[in-house]
Amino acid sequence: MAQLISDHQFEQFLREERLMGSECSSCGSLFVPPRARCSKCQGTGMQWSEMSGKGRLAAFTCIAIGPPSMTEEGYDRNNPYCTGVIELEEGPRMVARIEGVDAQKPETIKIGTSLMMKYLQRTGDQESVLAFAPA
Ligand SMILES: [Zn+2]
Repeated sequence: MAQLISDHQFEQFLREERLMGSECSSCGSLFVPPRARCSKCQGTGMQWSEMSGKGRLAAFTCIAIGPPSMTEEGYDRNNPYCTGVIELEEGPRMVARIEGVDAQKPETIKIGTSLMMKYLQRTGDQESVLAFAPA
């Protein structure tokens, strides 16, 4: 029985501090964030699969001029933040904020660093933002 895979449900899980991907029941491919249709075999028999939250840094950029939501949090030219591609232990890659690194000194940030996910509660609303930090 195929489960309903939606961004809304993904957000619900994040609020419960669970990182969920979708797993194709035909070929076993994993997607994070979840997809309703498998990009490998086009199958639509997807089910939820919980990720451990462990991964390693595959790529990153340090951003000085971000979207308004980041400016509100106090990030700007003098206080850049870091966004990275995380290769999860389970295989899929996802993009998220990288915390606990010095975004002003990108040369100190190393590809391959072990990361662990953490959740940032945004002030003002109850939105949970997913970030990763060195394990
Ligand atoms: Zn598939």
